[in-house]
Amino acid sequence: MDDINFECTACGNCCHDLRLPLTLTEAAAWLARGGQMELLCEAIPWPVEPEAGNEQAAYKKARSAPTMSGTLPVRVSVLLVAAFAGPCPNLDADMRCRIYEQRPLVCRIYPAEINPFVPLAPENKGCPPEAWQHTPLQRHGVLVDETTRELVGESRRMSELEAAARVKLCLALGMNEAALANEGFVIYAPDSDALRTALEQIRTTPDAVVEAEPWTFVSNRAVTVETLLSVGATGRLNEPATDTHFRYHGYFPAEPA
Ligand code: SF4
Ligand code: SF4
Repeated sequence: MDDINFECTACGNCCHDLRLPLTLTEAAAWLARGGQMELLCEAIPWPVEPEAGNEQAAYKKARSAPTMSGTLPVRVSVLLVAAFAGPCPNLDADMRCRIYEQRPLVCRIYPAEINPFVPLAPENKGCPPEAWQHTPLQRHGVLVDETTRELVGESRRMSELEAAARVKLCLALGMNEAALANEGFVIYAPDSDALRTALEQIRTTPDAVVEAEPWTFVSNRAVTVETLLSVGATGRLNEPATDTHFRYHGYFPAEPA
């Protein structure tokens, strides 16, 4: 569907049970308000550069940083997300956002999509059926509202601009394990004080964090680990979590060795 109408019903569905990707500045503000943050890490084997014209690969490349896993060149992609189960800590009982004027970019953009390869589809959104009417939101696949288009552009720009800093943030926190892209992600939930300190370090002395630190793949499937090891990467099978700051989230059932 290229033409979509939309009028927010203020139901508050989109402010529950989320992982909201934030910029570094937004993350610092989120922490300052007492919110919890997580880092979601995935790595893409990148032995050779994709052919020119591969726009999806270019998009992934722009949002990741080059590094190594063993002898295998990889690109690591990190999302810095505000995480909460149930209502957002900034949501009032009457479903109003307490930080409306300072709310993150992603909240301003919803329900529009940020990723240009993901078409806007009402059935994938939390908005009720009655929200999809009246005011034009999208015509011929293009967002009607100029402000929202600019916010999407700003979000994409920041995601690209801060890609290396988000990877450095992990390293500053002593984290260098990632899931294989499209198979899952590693979730780090650092102490808020440690994350605040690391964010400050990235902001003030980014060069103090060594970028070339090698990364290790984690997977819940033995065959994935074996394949990665066979091409020179370092990898390990996920184990039952003993560290409350580390979790592996797989998209597929576990397949032990
Ligand atoms: S910051 Fe505001 S708009 Fe964003 S999820 Fe929380 S309550 Fe909703
Ligand atoms: S889920 Fe949709 S309709 Fe409900 S508050 Fe969020 S944007 Fe508005």
